[in-house]
Amino acid sequence: MNYYDYIIIGSGIAGLYSALLAIEHGSVLIVTKGGIEDCNTRYAQGGIAAAIGKNDSSDLHFQDTMAAGDGLCNEETVRILVSEAPDRIADLIGFGVPFDTLDGEVALAREAAHSVPRILHAGGDATGEYIEVTLSEQVRMSPVKVLEYCLATEILLSDGQVGGIKAIDLRSGIVEEFACKFIILATGGAGRLFKYTTNGDTATGDGIALAYQSGAEIVDMEFFQFHPTALRLPGVSPFLISEAVRGEGGVLRNTEGQRFMPEYSPDADLAPRDVVARSILFEMRKTGSDRVFLDVTQLSATKVATRFPHIYRFCLDHSLDITRDMIPVAPAAHYLMGGVKVNAWGETNIAGLFAAGETACTGVHGANRLASNSLLEVLVFSKRIIERTQVDYDLTARRAKDIAPLYQLPSCEAVRDAPILNLPNLQSMLWDKVGIVRDLEGLHEAALTLAAWHSLLPATSDRLSYELNTMVINARLMTESALLREESRGAHYRSDFPRPSANWKTHIIFRT
Ligand SMILES: Cc1cc2nc3c(=O)[nH]c(=O)nc-3n(C[C@H](O)[C@H](O)[C@H](O)COP(=O)(O)OP(=O)(O)OC[C@H]3O[C@@H](n4cnc5c(N)ncnc54)[C@H](O)[C@@H]3O)c2cc1C
Repeated sequence: MNYYDYIIIGSGIAGLYSALLAIEHGSVLIVTKGGIEDCNTRYAQGGIAAAIGKNDSSDLHFQDTMAAGDGLCNEETVRILVSEAPDRIADLIGFGVPFDTLDGEVALAREAAHSVPRILHAGGDATGEYIEVTLSEQVRMSPVKVLEYCLATEILLSDGQVGGIKAIDLRSGIVEEFACKFIILATGGAGRLFKYTTNGDTATGDGIALAYQSGAEIVDMEFFQFHPTALRLPGVSPFLISEAVRGEGGVLRNTEGQRFMPEYSPDADLAPRDVVARSILFEMRKTGSDRVFLDVTQLSATKVATRFPHIYRFCLDHSLDITRDMIPVAPAAHYLMGGVKVNAWGETNIAGLFAAGETACTGVHGANRLASNSLLEVLVFSKRIIERTQVDYDLTARRAKDIAPLYQLPSCEAVRDAPILNLPNLQSMLWDKVGIVRDLEGLHEAALTLAAWHSLLPATSDRLSYELNTMVINARLMTESALLREESRGAHYRSDFPRPSANWKTHIIFRT
């Protein structure tokens, strides 16, 4: 069996950045199910948050992050996030990421719910692409071994500790085992669970299912962020229209051309994402439309084209000149706050198993993520993972302090008349019943269907069948968590429990 000190599953920012740090300390294998640059990271537009501006401070960044998290952030990890941010940005610059500058200084943009401009960006609105391309070039030039089109299907344990992984070469169909000392799950989010999503096709929650099936704890799965503004054009996948567009003065209008956000929030178009997403949904229902409009026509055309070149070009390619026409938009599934439960060193409850990036839950986002904190979270906690692998530690130290009630998925009930399990049925059900607005009836119906599907999972033979199984497990964890949480908080909104409840200022953790 091939042995590596570190096996990293995934080649987004979390996988690549961890690999570049880990290679200083041992041998590293990355397995990734697509090409090296197939991931969500390359779609990131707005940028990366760090308190480096003159009028900013880590205290202010801390306060904004805690406020967005709606009572469920982990104060310890948020403090680490904001205070280590400037050093991690310096690392990225060191690796060659060319952040945009203005008059010789790094340019900082403002996004919703940040009290000051603090978002670094690259290529205007192509930050993720610049990061992904830069880091993947660095990895290619390094001794890191990369296996592309290689799907990790199982974590192998030995005496309760990490022993290696099982993976399938998607081109030859050969299944191989690799042994290692440490595994870093860097498999990204799970936006593909939903009918409308800004996520790429790799975001199927594989790391969460792998970890869950190995006995790792999964937390906060009910908190999924829906981005308010994804392009809604027939036949076009929901391309993200960054929050920064509203930060620069873009306003939302309904199909009658009226501004509506001031009616829903004192922060109007710059209200937190969950508030804007729900407001758009209510407005769409009111006007009987499947979209609203984002209007940037009042901004200078030059500014729009230079500050948002990627969005401008994408829309123009679809016959929409956003300097003259309003942009049709609607909410779409965007970011998973929950995931594999890790501590401030990225450690799970299984010795040798770490998780980084969107697949992990460090607790920094709480019930709702502050825009542009996710790329930052990847850097800060990936660095800490590699530091942690350099010291000896015992298993008890790895266990999280704040153990909340542990749950298990209920045993599967046979449901007659369950719809056929296929990707469109799964995605439509999640969008309709476990989406922006939830209630008991819809969640219960989804939970029963998912339980039936879970009991009948098809044998996996290729990437699609494996991902479908993975998505059913993720969907069950999400739906059961959303059913349990009888309140509304952050991105989780229950129309039957529309207010937060002090009883629910706690986390829901699942383990097999
Ligand atoms: C449209 C869009 C815009 C965004 N904008 C911003 C922004 O401006 N600022 C910000 O901070 N965040 C933003 N985000 C969120 C941010 O981009 C992601 O949270 C972050 O890039 C996730 O990085 P990652 O490395 O964890 O996952 P990813 O970049 O998604 O990488 C996951 C990797 O794991 C691989 N993988 C998955 N499963 C397996 C498996 N079973 N076997 C092998 N490989 C596997 C995938 O192929 C992929 O290479 C945005 C997200 C989207 C979708």
